[in-house]
Amino acid sequence: RKGSVIITGASSGLGLATAKALAETGKWHIIMACRDFLKAERAAKSAGMSKQNYTIMHLDLASLDSVRQFVDRYKRSGRPLDVLVCNAAVYQPTAKEPSFTAEGFELSVGTNHLGHFLLSRLLLDDLKQSDYPSKRLIIVGSITGNTKTLAGNVPPKANLGDLRGLAGGLNGLNSSTMIDGGEFDGAKAYKDSKVCNMLTMQEFHRRFHEESGITFASLYPGCIATTGLFREHIPLFRLLFPPFQKYIIKGFVSEDEAGKRLAQVVSDPSLTKSGVYWSWNQNSASFENQLSPEASDEEKARKIWELSEKLVGLA
Ligand code: NDP
Repeated sequence: RKGSVIITGASSGLGLATAKALAETGKWHIIMACRDFLKAERAAKSAGMSKQNYTIMHLDLASLDSVRQFVDRYKRSGRPLDVLVCNAAVYQPTAKEPSFTAEGFELSVGTNHLGHFLLSRLLLDDLKQSDYPSKRLIIVGSITGNTKTLAGNVPPKANLGDLRGLAGGLNGLNSSTMIDGGEFDGAKAYKDSKVCNMLTMQEFHRRFHEESGITFASLYPGCIATTGLFREHIPLFRLLFPPFQKYIIKGFVSEDEAGKRLAQVVSDPSLTKSGVYWSWNQNSASFENQLSPEASDEEKARKIWELSEKLVGLA
């Protein structure tokens, strides 16, 4: 049978390119989990994906009710779940004020981390039950977890501090909107959320890999300077960033190439190792990358897991 893979945020950028790459193999049915149904339908069409290879299902990660409804509908569909890809993200580098999810969490961490945390926890049993030869849970990371690189050191740097803001619910009322308890900074909130993504992947690995055989992985696909992720950035930045990445940093990858990389993490029989943060070198060969001390801190990973369980209503 075909493999069944859910990809969140498959309506643009990396998620769409990955859906396209997997659809082209003819071996996968892709469930595009998107907040904008029409946009996703148009995107799939313009990517040339054939109807029999995909299904679009509504999912708004900025609402925990929507996450629960999505999971219920998926379970009722009777489809197996072989791979889950947590890819969607929001990035608000120029926001002066925070925005919030339906439950009142700061939007970047609420969407990128808490929405995906609930989604993957609720779908873990379905992955366990899959009889597919290699079942996987992939959470897309970023370079911000890698302080050994130039790009991982651009300020503001990710820093989760003692997690006091997260413990308080990130709501700006009785707690800060930032995980570390500091002043709101949209670029930092995004980077913090990505560190949470990478820590969550490792915590999943420690808790569930041995018993379930599921491969848990994260990756940095390279800098895809052309995606919608930068849509809220100032126009001059959007003009200069792609050539800067291409010619100076040399970290630029096209959406197609990045999609092929994530598709490898979904389906390549040689990438089954669990607990790994994949990156690619200049020749597009994959390697196991090292994470920064904070993005590999076991104690912090456990605390974030426990605090997140409370915030999403699992504990
Ligand atoms: P895009 O903005 O193109 O894609 C993000 C996707 O997330 C969109 O499909 C968007 O939906 C979706 N999304 C946003 N909010 C929600 C929500 N509340 N519910 C459901 N879906 C939502 O950016 P990229 O493709 O660049 O980003 C994809 C992933 O790649 C992210 O995890 C990002 O952190 C990561 N990444 C990107 C890099 C880059 O250089 N671009 C580098 C490293 C990592 P919609 O289409 O409706 O807006």
